[in-house]
Amino acid sequence: MPLWKKSSSKSPDVYTTTHAIQGLAKDHIPETGMSPEEAYNLVRDELYLDGNARQNLATFCTTWVEDEVHTLMADCIDKNMIDKDEYPQTAEIEARCVHIIASLWNSPEAEDTIGCSTTGSSEAAMLGGLALKWAWRDRQKKAGKHHDKPNIVCGPVQVCWHKFAKYFDVELRQIPLTEGSLHMQPEQLKDYVDENTICVVPTLGVTFTGVYEPVKEVCQELDKIQFETGLDIPVHVDAASGGFVAPFLHPELVWDFRLDRVKSINASGHKFGLAPLGVGWVIWRDKKELPADLVFNVDYLGGNMPTFALNFSRPGGQIIIQYYNFMRLGYVGYRAIQLACAENAHYLAKKLSKLPELEVLYDGKGALPCVCYRLKEPKKAHYTLYDLSERVRMSGWQIASYPLPADMQDTIVQRIMVRHGVSHDSVEQLFEDIRKALNYLGKNNIKWSEAGPSFSHG
Ligand SMILES: *Cc1c(COP(=O)(O)O)cnc(C)c1O
Repeated sequence: MPLWKKSSSKSPDVYTTTHAIQGLAKDHIPETGMSPEEAYNLVRDELYLDGNARQNLATFCTTWVEDEVHTLMADCIDKNMIDKDEYPQTAEIEARCVHIIASLWNSPEAEDTIGCSTTGSSEAAMLGGLALKWAWRDRQKKAGKHHDKPNIVCGPVQVCWHKFAKYFDVELRQIPLTEGSLHMQPEQLKDYVDENTICVVPTLGVTFTGVYEPVKEVCQELDKIQFETGLDIPVHVDAASGGFVAPFLHPELVWDFRLDRVKSINASGHKFGLAPLGVGWVIWRDKKELPADLVFNVDYLGGNMPTFALNFSRPGGQIIIQYYNFMRLGYVGYRAIQLACAENAHYLAKKLSKLPELEVLYDGKGALPCVCYRLKEPKKAHYTLYDLSERVRMSGWQIASYPLPADMQDTIVQRIMVRHGVSHDSVEQLFEDIRKALNYLGKNNIKWSEAGPSFSHG
């Protein structure tokens, strides 16, 4: 019997209970439960081993939200966004977000454009890719051509496009990087596209470095290819991060539906869209770009609802918060937040570029608010950036180290994402920790570590 039972009838101190002394079940459901207070404390304590999300500068995702967001999320915890008849206002708010985002991306018909929320950019990319695969197949069929070898052409894409290609049987043709060029070069396209190319996918905010791929120039090159060969190849823009940065920081940059060739765009609401984790968006420039064949009509919940999604049930709160953010911040508020991030990223880049050990590859100016760098002389140094990641982790910072994609896979880089909630002083503290870690590694002849990349690109 636990000690407390002998001495008092009052509820026990959480850390004197059997579970606190003997541990929680790890591989079976226990016969009996425990009080919510006890379960809360013991389960929450497990989380101390997770990194501190605010210091995770490897992630692109939202790690700071206002108190009101917590409240509104709690209000929505029981809402399934797919039950559009039961929760018509959530459905209405999702539709408003689609139109707001379409107009942010300069859709010619923002009021009646088509699009939907998703779990994130991965699902959104799959939906965009599927619509284009269907459209390509229809084109091929009509022309009496074979339609069994589709491909997509892209630069250094996020893993979701590798998944799309594998899951949906599409060949991924990734244009290799070269020293001095961190994204696809439009003139490379002609060697990769053919009549089986369902689309070209430029990324607005490349995961590995933070730079934008030149969407307008890609479209112009495809115009030229069409003029010369007759191939009319559509473009889907993966704007997972850039979709909520460019409209506010680089409104003059033409990357979106202002370009006729851009048929669909995806973005992550939970990245620079500032919503909590679990929402993405995909928008088509025109209803006709989404083949009706892919849309399922669901009627068992009452009413008849068209759905195009990989998931069915999904939380509604993230969508509500996306709308809350649009209303709460407005264009000016979003711009102020993204500007602050960009300023802090550029400040950090300037400081890092003065360190003799590092070479900054992207300085936070002109694209995403982040910094990407490598060791100036990796062959001479007896430590690697993986060692640096490990060393700054001692103060809680999580900074990604990883190789660039082919043909730059021998270059190991680090990337620091500066998001909402990363202040000037945080950046200053991080810089000091990096500086000290480099001094330590330099002085202590740390052995070359073979530690592989152990982080995600999320
Ligand atoms: C993060 C990211 C994705 C995947 O987005 P999720 O919202 O995590 O599913 C896809 N593409 C790019 C460019 C990204 O940065």
